[in-house]
Amino acid sequence: MTRRIVIAGNWKMNKTVPESVELAKAVVAKSAEAPASVDLVVCPTFVALTEVAKVVAGTRVALGAQDLHWEESGAFTGKISAAMLVSAGVKYVIIGHSEQRQFFGETDETVNKKVKQALKHGLLPIVCVGELLAEREAGKTDAVNERQLKGAYAGVSAEDAAKTVVAYEPVWAIGTGKVATVEQAQESQAFIRKVLTGLYGAKVAEIIPIQYGGSMKPDNAKGLLAEKDIDGGLIGGAALKADDFIGIAKGAS
Ligand code: PEP
Repeated sequence: MTRRIVIAGNWKMNKTVPESVELAKAVVAKSAEAPASVDLVVCPTFVALTEVAKVVAGTRVALGAQDLHWEESGAFTGKISAAMLVSAGVKYVIIGHSEQRQFFGETDETVNKKVKQALKHGLLPIVCVGELLAEREAGKTDAVNERQLKGAYAGVSAEDAAKTVVAYEPVWAIGTGKVATVEQAQESQAFIRKVLTGLYGAKVAEIIPIQYGGSMKPDNAKGLLAEKDIDGGLIGGAALKADDFIGIAKGAS
């Protein structure tokens, strides 16, 4: 089995429902320009999922969500379950994004519960890890990524781990315009694969795509995607324009 290249757009808290439909249509219209080997994913807000699902149905663009709750159902006001996402046509789900960790109390433990719940319902988790600037400057980059990875995958079988995607997102590069150098990204992502190898063996670790995320744009994507352990991107700002999103995907070959 070869490793897939996954280019996912995280639209965050942007775009109304009609605007999301318009952007999804534009992504679908341009999707033929991306190399056939690339899996394209769009992750709109929850309220736009069902409408965007109609736009991407039967196309090469898959639907992703930006979070889920780990419980099946019940008194969890404001939360969205795995079954709800599946019923809306969702295939991928972003888990443990740094904004969830920084602003909404996400911990390694809640990430782990969400990963297990997603897998239980057949959703493909995009598991986000990455260090803060202070952690990088203190020489703790690898330790932080290792802790977050081991936390996220605790109790997850090798068979299930093989269905996941990891997104390495150095927090200092997200939405700041400060992209990690190709060397920094490759070094951290090689380390992430080493941790996955320790957890699951080389065969599984070799097929888990590791995306880079952090101010990725059409003009820096090619250099990043040429690296051995950079297997796609989780794109924030640049995913809000179809030209830029597909421009990034074109950087993969
Ligand atoms: C993100 O939030 O996942 C991200 C990578 O954002 P940006 O591309 O805007 O840095």
